[in-house]
Amino acid sequence: MKILLVSPEVVPFAKTGGLADVAGSLPKALKNLGEDIRVLMPRYKSVSKKKYALKTILKKIEIPIGENLEKVDILEGKIPGSKVTVYFVENDKYFGSRTELYQVEGKDYPDNLERFTLFCRAGIEMLKKLNWAPDIVHANDWQSALMMAYLKNWFKDDPFFKSTATVYSVHNLGYLGMFNKDKLPITGLGWDQFIPEKLEFWGNIALTKAGFVYADVINTVSETYAKEIQTEAFGFGLDGLLRYRASDLYGILNGIDYEIWDPATDPNLVNHYTVLTLDEKMENKLALQDEFDLPEKKRTPLIGLIGRLTVQKGFDILATTLEQVMKLNCQLVILGNGEPKYHDLLKKMHKAYPKHIGIKLGFDEALAARIYSGSDLFLMPSRYEPCGLGQLISFRYGTIPMVRKTGGLADTVHEFNSKTGEGDGFVFEGIEPAALLATIKRAIEAYKKPSVWSKLQEKVMQYDFSWDASAKQYQALYQKAKAKRG
Ligand code: ADP
Repeated sequence: MKILLVSPEVVPFAKTGGLADVAGSLPKALKNLGEDIRVLMPRYKSVSKKKYALKTILKKIEIPIGENLEKVDILEGKIPGSKVTVYFVENDKYFGSRTELYQVEGKDYPDNLERFTLFCRAGIEMLKKLNWAPDIVHANDWQSALMMAYLKNWFKDDPFFKSTATVYSVHNLGYLGMFNKDKLPITGLGWDQFIPEKLEFWGNIALTKAGFVYADVINTVSETYAKEIQTEAFGFGLDGLLRYRASDLYGILNGIDYEIWDPATDPNLVNHYTVLTLDEKMENKLALQDEFDLPEKKRTPLIGLIGRLTVQKGFDILATTLEQVMKLNCQLVILGNGEPKYHDLLKKMHKAYPKHIGIKLGFDEALAARIYSGSDLFLMPSRYEPCGLGQLISFRYGTIPMVRKTGGLADTVHEFNSKTGEGDGFVFEGIEPAALLATIKRAIEAYKKPSVWSKLQEKVMQYDFSWDASAKQYQALYQKAKAKRG
């Protein structure tokens, strides 16, 4: 099959979260299964043409943005270490001059609609100019959702796209791609789209609806989240639409790239290890304690946390518990950036408990790897979590997750029973601080029994959350989309 995977971020070129991991690794797995898969993303300033040997293959394609015409080049490269072709939309005004992907200092770029309109329209023009008609266009999240609307409204009967089916994946329903209705003409779509059955959303437009309304097949990144988003509690006002499309809505668990996330070879680690040399993990722990200015203590459980400091990630739950966590016999290291009030809280906590909590406020992929490898436990108290990658990466590094039972976390982590050896982590359901605190206490108790603990580590390190199984499910999903297109 010829597949174009469209994503606003792709590892290693640009990343703000899990979507980039998916877009950088699922294509490699599909390529290994023999698919002709190619990827489309914008070329941001941070994507070095030199480092990735990008070549210009198309020049000066004219794209209407509202009343204006913008010129776009298309560059071509490969996902490093693979044969997967990546096309980059090159436009200085909207992408080439931007250091961040979607926002600076917590504020969205005011022209995000123009930017991602350009991205989607350029993608379609590119396919025609390359004379490469895919069987599947697989768009991801609101930034690429307009592609679904264009293909359905403008190109449905175009002979070039006669056998092109569409798939839309939502990686986090909390990001709707919402814009003021007055901006609709920028997309080139008509006012006939401004109804609740199409792109209108409570007086605004929500781009993710273009995916939900127009894609042949919709999916999200775990089975539980696929069910959750059809409920009012998780649906962000779109649960009705998703229930209406329930027969076309699927959930496929993300994998992780086992070549990148590998404690035996990861270049970011202080000391490499495998399931057979687990003792070597300790050096990573001591180095991590040192890096965060915490006392180097071999037997004090070290809890890692990496992620966006937001309510979605359960930071409000943690915030109300933090003072009590500091009184437990454990250490906490946190890497993240997000809402300023959580930055302030963490700084305050660090000042009050410098021997218990270490913080780094920012985005640092190498440090993330050192935290996954150096921690004993990994905390994810998310209010909702479409899939979650932290728990899968933790398993791979012999680090035991503590999670809230929601979305992909519920599908992948099960409460550990130290008597029977069943389970693989520590799980809580409630959102009250006591539930989180009790879970950390249970984990610390289990950690105190070294032989039980190392067996648990050995078990989770042998799990297979690589893309092998999930990529096959994507192949089946693409077939379903093709069958719907007819
Ligand atoms: P999200 O909702 O943010 O996409 P996921 O769990 O799906 O959450 O994926 C998050 C990915 O981003 C993981 O690979 C995680 O290690 C990484 N990550 C998150 N925050 C940071 C950070 N501050 N620095 C480095 N990596 C981060």
